[in-house]
Amino acid sequence: MVKNKILVVEDDPAISSLIRTTLETQDYQYHTAQSGAGALIEAASYNPDVIILDLGLPDMDGVDIIKKVRSWSNMPIIVVSARTEDQDKVDALDAGADDYLTKPFSIEEFLARLRAALRRSHAEPKSSGDSVYRNGELSIDYAAGCAYVGGEEVHLTPIEYKLLCLLAQNTGKVLTHNYILKEVWGAPQASDIPSLRVFMATLRKKLEHTPGSPHYIQTHIGVGYRMLRQ
Ligand code: CA
Repeated sequence: MVKNKILVVEDDPAISSLIRTTLETQDYQYHTAQSGAGALIEAASYNPDVIILDLGLPDMDGVDIIKKVRSWSNMPIIVVSARTEDQDKVDALDAGADDYLTKPFSIEEFLARLRAALRRSHAEPKSSGDSVYRNGELSIDYAAGCAYVGGEEVHLTPIEYKLLCLLAQNTGKVLTHNYILKEVWGAPQASDIPSLRVFMATLRKKLEHTPGSPHYIQTHIGVGYRMLRQ
């Protein structure tokens, strides 16, 4: 069994030590970096399965590191940051981070997010060629352009279908309002967010048994939406 390789980018020695100890107990391999420059070198040379990234580094902002890594790699990036503003999360996710964990965080949640990122990175090469998406009772037949819940076809408008496919193709990832607007409508404007909410509400009514406590599409208030893996 090949061990998963994690790159830990963190300049705070106490937090870096906590993360390293946690990774050791779970038998992960890791390298560490304390600066942005070091992170970029390690990302390229160590080629980790996941990057754990602090945003506040001495020489570079974490968001710039995300953008630089994204220019050549899709490796999962989990941001671990003390910044709690929605806008910080939006900026990191828009730049291409896969997930965002706010400090202080629980070890259990950290490990769960890490496992989810590793599952996605290992699943990606296989799922990209599949023409049918399956997630719990939900399935999408991309070739036919149809969605089903529990074997029953769900009748979606073209926009709802596009939204569903976008969320499905990024299962487990939080997609920001801006990203969704850009992908589905092409031209993002903050004023479109209320209409996005309306489309999401109707999509949920069609997919979810209880739209008030959704199984599939999770809302991240002020940030965006995430398709949950069942
Ligand atoms: Ca820091």
